[in-house]
Amino acid sequence: MACGPKLKRTRFAPSPTGLLHLGHAYAALTAAGRASPGEFLLRIEDIDAARCRPEFEAAIYEDLAWLGLDWPRPVLRQSERREAYDAALNRLISLGLCYPCRCTRGDIRAALSAPQEGAPMAGPDGLIYPGTCRGRSMEDAGPEEAIRLDMAKALALLEGVPLAFTETGPVHPGDHKLDEERLLTHVGHVILSRASIGTSYHLAVVVDDAAQGITEVTRGEDLFEATQIHVVLQKLLELHTPSYHHHTLIRDNTGKRLAKRDDARAIRRYRDEGETPADVRIRIGL
Ligand code: GLU
Repeated sequence: MACGPKLKRTRFAPSPTGLLHLGHAYAALTAAGRASPGEFLLRIEDIDAARCRPEFEAAIYEDLAWLGLDWPRPVLRQSERREAYDAALNRLISLGLCYPCRCTRGDIRAALSAPQEGAPMAGPDGLIYPGTCRGRSMEDAGPEEAIRLDMAKALALLEGVPLAFTETGPVHPGDHKLDEERLLTHVGHVILSRASIGTSYHLAVVVDDAAQGITEVTRGEDLFEATQIHVVLQKLLELHTPSYHHHTLIRDNTGKRLAKRDDARAIRRYRDEGETPADVRIRIGL
């Protein structure tokens, strides 16, 4: 029996916290291009209600359609997925891998003012947590507290399970085996749930990539280091690990990566000035 090419499923997962700029155009077009043959999905990452705005979500749909992209509806919006994130979190809690944390950023900074030699201050989940609350039980968790994953316990539970992922992007291509020692020193006890949003970027993205059957996570190079957290969570939750493609970032003339506040580079500004989608593709080198 003849087998056709394996269908891929990729996604573009913006947060509606500002207008999409040239870097987003590159990310979305790269993800869509890599889903051929296959399917390209759009996901709205709006868990942080304080920063997300409906007008930016509307602008995402409009700008992507203008660029010539299409995607299946209804679109998955993370703000509607609380039950799925709670279920994943509860599973990790029931495995005995979590503890509540009431430390502020200031507390963590103060505790890190004398870091261990050679250890970095921050990793892909921000400041590397010094473990102040580690001995606390989930039963003592207050409603305003964050919940952390005890990385050492997680790795002990996963002993013997291969922790690896395949990267097809241009910067770190190849198979990557996770370095457990490095996970402890350079990543640490990541946040699984912030009181204000009830989950975290890492947990939500892992749950949703699995729920949507994503075969290749296509996203910016700035998230490469976060992938090791995602692989650990996938193994703990017994979810499939997709392959990863981290693309290079679009930078401004000074070499700085574009940020949402760079309205000067917003896709709709080029559009308002009369440029076509083809002109935008040329600007970003596609
Ligand atoms: N929502 C993230 C962002 O806007 C992207 C997350 C991902 O692609 O994994 O940067």
